[in-house]
Amino acid sequence: MRKAKRPPARNCIICGRYFKPKPFAYSQKVCSRKSCREKRKRDNFQNWKKINPDYYKTKNEGNFSEYWRERRKIYRKKNPNCMKNWRKYNRNKYRDYMKKYMKTYRRNSKVKRAVVSSSK
Ligand SMILES: [Zn+2]
Repeated sequence: MRKAKRPPARNCIICGRYFKPKPFAYSQKVCSRKSCREKRKRDNFQNWKKINPDYYKTKNEGNFSEYWRERRKIYRKKNPNCMKNWRKYNRNKYRDYMKKYMKTYRRNSKVKRAVVSSSK
């Protein structure tokens, strides 16, 4: 019988304690203590911020939503099939969504028209 390859025990890169990684997490570098897990999460986030410095910059500059709207536009242009496929696989959801959307749209345009005609 072959034994599953178990990851060797090692030292935690944060607290330095010797620990046995979980068998399904072969490259685990941090032990399972809560403080170490949280620190690892924070470190990952800091690294991510270093890699994506523009993400929070645009937020602080105040045009955060505009920036992401542009990004979505670019994404849609690059992947025109994305929305098509989504609609194909979520046809019922999409239909419900459009029904609701058109309902509110019509109601809003009616209100607008009423306001315009009453002001004349
Ligand atoms: Zn640790």
